[in-house]
Amino acid sequence: MHVTAIIAAGGRGRRLGAAMPKQLLDLGGRPMLQWSVDAFLACERIGDVIVVGPPEWVDAPPACLRRPGIHLVAGGDRRQDSVANGFDAVPVASEIVLVHDAARPFVDAETIARAIDAAVESGAAVVALQARDTVKWSPADDPVPAGGTAAHRLVERTMARDSVFLAQTPQAFRREVLAEAVALGRAGVEGTDEAALAEQAGRRVRIVAGSARNMKVTTAEDLAMAEALVHGRNLRPAGDRGLPVIRVGSGYDLHRFVEGRPLILGGVTVPFDRGLAGHSDADALCHAVTDAILGAAAQGDIGQHFPDSDDRWRGASSIDLLRQAAAVVAGLGYRLVNVDATIIAERPKLGPFRTAMAAGLAAALGVELSAVSVKAKTNEGVDAAGRGEAIAVHAVALLEQLNP
Ligand code: MG
Repeated sequence: MHVTAIIAAGGRGRRLGAAMPKQLLDLGGRPMLQWSVDAFLACERIGDVIVVGPPEWVDAPPACLRRPGIHLVAGGDRRQDSVANGFDAVPVASEIVLVHDAARPFVDAETIARAIDAAVESGAAVVALQARDTVKWSPADDPVPAGGTAAHRLVERTMARDSVFLAQTPQAFRREVLAEAVALGRAGVEGTDEAALAEQAGRRVRIVAGSARNMKVTTAEDLAMAEALVHGRNLRPAGDRGLPVIRVGSGYDLHRFVEGRPLILGGVTVPFDRGLAGHSDADALCHAVTDAILGAAAQGDIGQHFPDSDDRWRGASSIDLLRQAAAVVAGLGYRLVNVDATIIAERPKLGPFRTAMAAGLAAALGVELSAVSVKAKTNEGVDAAGRGEAIAVHAVALLEQLNP
């Protein structure tokens, strides 16, 4: 059964007071949005992941979305408009469609599976948490004294909390049920979630047990609580499955200097009177990093993937080869955590180019700049690099397995 997940990430989230949309705020070292994207990508039952984001993302996606398996769609004015846009992009083969809010980073595979099963059975399902606190009813039109706040409102009555459920996401629907809900929304009916629209379309919505951990991050206090969860409980993007599976890889490369070639490192052309000899553009930094990420995934080395003997790679841009190697490891279910490289060169001075090199590598690898480090050292006049005959590069890369 084909299942598509729509992740609603179109909100501006200015309530958190940050300069960037809240779904990109850092949570435990990665953008908040990436937590739910990783959870759905890692879930075996999900066939496609559609992220609905601000329209400007379609041309310039954030790094965490520049990965295989993610389809990016421009959102609309309201949340329900964004979900409707996402629904239009759902593959025809999908029988079940889930809608998830990017502001709920800690969704796990078990909850996703329960929502899918309930939607198969009932047509529509909402993950929800039964109220634990006693619920007081105070109608919104209750008079509030001038200058007062909700703290001044009066309780009209106490509700039976056994009957109160607080809706979370994901919400899951058989395709035709969500189509009805989306059509109702397009006809002008307002719903704070898709389940509400399905209810108004006359559909029965089944409740699936949620969890307190599947919290929504709306305020700065929520964000602080989410950080505490990440650091206190070792939560992982793919769910709560124990320690992450991480793999380290090392890479090394050396190229001789020759006359009459440009010096290219990390895709950056460094002004110098000589360049590096080699079959491709001889970008030793890219080659070492490529070997490090292939090595971490036990996928051989650059020579196996892009052999010298193959004319396709003659004069190839090593940045392109790195990009292809990154796609190989991503396709195997790995996320690149970080790369650290050291260039050993007596001359020229590389310090001024380090940031540009790191940015070039980060773009090719589809990660944030903060995940890439490039350092440069001399070799104190010792050995080939020290005598200025060659440039050598050492690199390490760390991969995290998304679905161990
Ligand atoms: Mg090389």
